[in-house]
Amino acid sequence: MLLAAVAVNAQTEHICKSTDEAAQAAHTRLLEFRSSPQTQNYDVKYHRFEWVINPTVRYISGVVTTYFTAREEGFQTLHFDFDPALSVTEVRQRGTALNFQVLAAEKLLAVQLPNPMSLGSLDSVSITYAGQPPATGFGSFAQANPGGNPALWTLSEPYGARDWWPCKQDLNDKIDSIDVIVRTPAAYRAASNGLLVSELQDGADKIYHWRHRYPIAAYLVAISVTRYAVYSDFVPVPDGEPIEVLNYVFPQDSAWIRNETWRIVEIMQVFNELFGTYPFADEKYGHAQFGWGGGMEHQTMSFMGGFSHLLQAHELAHQWFGDKVTCASWEDIWLNEGFATYLEGMTYEHIPAAGSWRNYLVGKINHVTGSAGGSVWVDDTTNVNRIFSSRLSYSKGAMLLHMLRWTLGDEDFFQAIRNYLNDPAIAFGYARTHQLQAHLENQSGLDLDEFFADWFYGQGYPSYQIEWGQSGSRLAVKIDQTTSHPSVDFFEMPVPVRFVSATGEDSIVVFPHQFSGQYFELELPFAAASAEFDPQLWIVSKNNTVTNNPAVSVDEVETFRVRWFPNPAADVLTLDWPGFEGAPVRGECVDAAGRKVFAFEVTSAQSTFSLRGMPAGTYTMRLFTPKGTQLQVIVKQ
Ligand SMILES: [Zn+2]
Repeated sequence: MLLAAVAVNAQTEHICKSTDEAAQAAHTRLLEFRSSPQTQNYDVKYHRFEWVINPTVRYISGVVTTYFTAREEGFQTLHFDFDPALSVTEVRQRGTALNFQVLAAEKLLAVQLPNPMSLGSLDSVSITYAGQPPATGFGSFAQANPGGNPALWTLSEPYGARDWWPCKQDLNDKIDSIDVIVRTPAAYRAASNGLLVSELQDGADKIYHWRHRYPIAAYLVAISVTRYAVYSDFVPVPDGEPIEVLNYVFPQDSAWIRNETWRIVEIMQVFNELFGTYPFADEKYGHAQFGWGGGMEHQTMSFMGGFSHLLQAHELAHQWFGDKVTCASWEDIWLNEGFATYLEGMTYEHIPAAGSWRNYLVGKINHVTGSAGGSVWVDDTTNVNRIFSSRLSYSKGAMLLHMLRWTLGDEDFFQAIRNYLNDPAIAFGYARTHQLQAHLENQSGLDLDEFFADWFYGQGYPSYQIEWGQSGSRLAVKIDQTTSHPSVDFFEMPVPVRFVSATGEDSIVVFPHQFSGQYFELELPFAAASAEFDPQLWIVSKNNTVTNNPAVSVDEVETFRVRWFPNPAADVLTLDWPGFEGAPVRGECVDAAGRKVFAFEVTSAQSTFSLRGMPAGTYTMRLFTPKGTQLQVIVKQ
C-alpha cells in the first residue's frame, strides 16, 4: 500500500499509550485478535463470493460460500471474523439451515455444524448476509462520486476484511482459490482478482464473474465498482506469452492515464529479470482506478488513486513482495513495504530516464535520519499508523535491504532474494523476518544476527568521524562512530571511503569497521588530497565528518612493517613481514566493493598468494593483527 498524499517527511509514528479503560480494552482485543484463536482450528480452501453492489449506495448484500477442512478431530463450531454491523439472514449446508450466532464483542460469527467433523475432512457452508459495513483503517468499504460518477471500492489492509465479509482474517492460512461474482446495474463494471471469465446481462443488471486460482490472503480480496473504460498493455516475456496488464480507469481520466500506464511494461521487465517472472502470469496484472489517495496491491489487480511511475512500480513490486510472499505478522510489514519501496528506487537504477537513483537514496537516508529513533520492527501492531509508518516500515525498511545488498554483494543478495521468493515453505504463503535472514545467511555464509539486532530490532543510525593522515605512500585512518539512539551502541558495517589525489586518481577503500576508535594502516599508490565518506550512499548515517589530520600518523598506528610485492601484481603476490612474531594472523583479500575474494592465515615471515583467475582491478589486502588492522591496496593486472 502507498499513500500518495503522505509527504516524504511526514511523521506517522504514534505509540499507543492511552490509559483510558475502554481504549485499553479495545487494545487488548486487537492484540488477541492478531492470533484469531477461534479460527485456527480449520483451514480455508475456497470462497465463492456472490455480491450485489450498487455503487450509489454504501451497502453490501450477498452470499459467501466457504470450503474448509477440519484441523482437529470432532470439529463442530466454525468461526469467522465478522463485524456485527452486518446481519446474517441464514447459513446453509447442502440446503439445510444451520444454527449460528453473531458474537458482537468478539466480532465473530459462530456457525454450528450438524455433526462433528473428522480431522482433515472437507465441507462447506453458505452465509447470506447484508448491511452497511463500518469503515476502518484506510476505508475498508468506501463509496464516493469521483468526477460525478458513483464508485464503491474496498481496501481491507490490515484489519478490514471482516468489515464487509465473513472471513478468516489471519496471516497464516491463505485461501487456495476464489470466485468473485458481482451483480450491479448495467451502467457499471466490477473489477476484482484474477481473470474475468464471464460478463452476463440479466435484466437491468450485469453479472461479472472473476476467477482467481492462486492462494490469496483475506486482506487482498477486493472489488471496485463504477463506470470504467477498459484497455490493456502487454509485457513481452522471453520465450513466453506476453503478460496482459488490464486497465480499468474512470472514463473522464482515460486519456491522460493512457499516457502513463505504458511505463508498467518496462518496470515489469526489470522485476521479471531480477526476481523471476511476475508470479501470477497465468492470469493477469491490472490497475483499477479508485477514489482513494494512494495505491493498494490487491492481488493481480492493484487499485490506483494515481498513475505516477513510482506508484505503479510500488504496487507492482508488491505482487512479489506482499502478495506472492506475505508478511506473516504485521510486526514484519517491512517484508511487504520495505521491498516495495526499495523496488521503486531500483526502477531508477535500471531505467535512468525514469528518475535519479542517487536522489532516491539521498531522499531515503534523509527521511530515515529525520528522527533519532524508531525500529523497522513494528513494536505496536494495534496501531495502524505505526504499522504503516512511512519513515520506518517504508524508507528504513528499503534502506535495510540496500545495506544488506552492500554487505552481501549483488550476486549473493539477489540470489538469496530469489531463493526466498521460491522457498516452498514461503512462496504463495507467508514469511517472517527470520526466514529472510536465513536465506541471506545460507547464500552468503555470513552470520547476520548482529545486523538484524542493530538494524531491524534496534533503533537509530550511526554517525562516523573519520580522520586520516598520510606520510609517503602510507596512510593512517582512524574511524570513530557514535549512534543516535541508546538501543544500539555500535553498527558493525563495511565503511567505504574514497581517496582522491590532486590529479584525480582515486580509490575506494572499504574498512571492516568493528569498533569505535579503530585504527587502520593503508598503503595507497598515490598521495591523497581529499577523502569522501560513502560516496555511493550505501549506509544510513548522518552528520559524518572526514578530516585530514596529520596527528593521525602512520607512526601512531604502525607497530609492524609489512611489504606486499610486486604491486601491480600478475598471478603471484608475496607478503614480506620481517617482524612477524610467530602467532598466526588472519587476513583476507577483498575487492573494490568490499566483498571477500579469499581468506588466509599468515604463519611465517614470508608467504605467497595466487591471484590466478581473479579479474584485473584494485583489491585490498587486510591483516587483522592483535595491534590493529593493516590494509594495503594492490593492483591485479
Ligand atoms: Zn505498499
